[in-house]
Amino acid sequence: MKVMVNRDTCVASGNCGAIAPDVFQNRDRDGGFVRLLQTNPPASQWEAVWQAARLCPSGTINVEDVPPVRRSGPDQPSHSPTT
Ligand code: SF4
Repeated sequence: MKVMVNRDTCVASGNCGAIAPDVFQNRDRDGGFVRLLQTNPPASQWEAVWQAARLCPSGTINVEDVPPVRRSGPDQPSHSPTT
C-alpha cells in the first residue's frame, strides 16, 4: 500500500488522525491540516487507512494498492501443462 495526501485540498477536519493515528496526524500547530507519518504503512494499518480515505470529506487521501512482489525461481510452483 502506498499513501499520498494533497495538503492543498485538506480542510483540516481531523478525521484521518482520529481514524488512523499511526499514519495521519492533525496537529494544532499545523492548523489541523493533515501530516502524513507513513507512506507505506504495514498491513495492520491498511483497514484504518482505507477507512480514513473513504471518510475524508475532501478526497485528499489517495491510496494505491501495491501488488506483492512476484518472485520466480526454483521454489515457485511450475505451471507446466500436465498430460
Ligand atoms: S480527513 Fe481529509 S480533510 Fe480531514 S484532515 Fe484528514 S486529509 Fe484533511
